[in-house]
Amino acid sequence: MHHFFRQSDQIPTGLVLFSQPSASSGQLMAGALILQRLPFNAGSTFEEKEQDEDDWITNLSLLGTLTKRELLDATLSSEKLLHRLFHERQLHLLEPKPLQAKCSCSRDRIEKVINNFPLEDRLEMAVDGEIKVICEFCNADYRFVI
Ligand SMILES: [Zn+2]
Repeated sequence: MHHFFRQSDQIPTGLVLFSQPSASSGQLMAGALILQRLPFNAGSTFEEKEQDEDDWITNLSLLGTLTKRELLDATLSSEKLLHRLFHERQLHLLEPKPLQAKCSCSRDRIEKVINNFPLEDRLEMAVDGEIKVICEFCNADYRFVI
């Protein structure tokens, strides 16, 4: 995941992820906290950028204090957990949004990208008469006959 954020998102990101089997059900439970650095405001002074860098390092240090026990504690709300970690910072909580496993790739979108290449290039991409594309995000496997 660190590799993904560095290579694909290119947003400085801190990530803590823990998982363990539940003591009661044995089912795997997992939790994650992702911290992303917002871009500078346009017109930030050198001093503001220096302060922002210091703040980012401090926030990563605070994130690093998160324990597996805290993150996987079902009785500890996200809001309480964030206050526990970052109470010394100016914390502005936004309305939570439900997570959804979803990728924006589609057969149509990939086909349009492939069709933008000249026929000669498409023929070079093809193996045994078909172009195979695997989405690096969701691992969907698309095949196109040439
Ligand atoms: Zn995908």
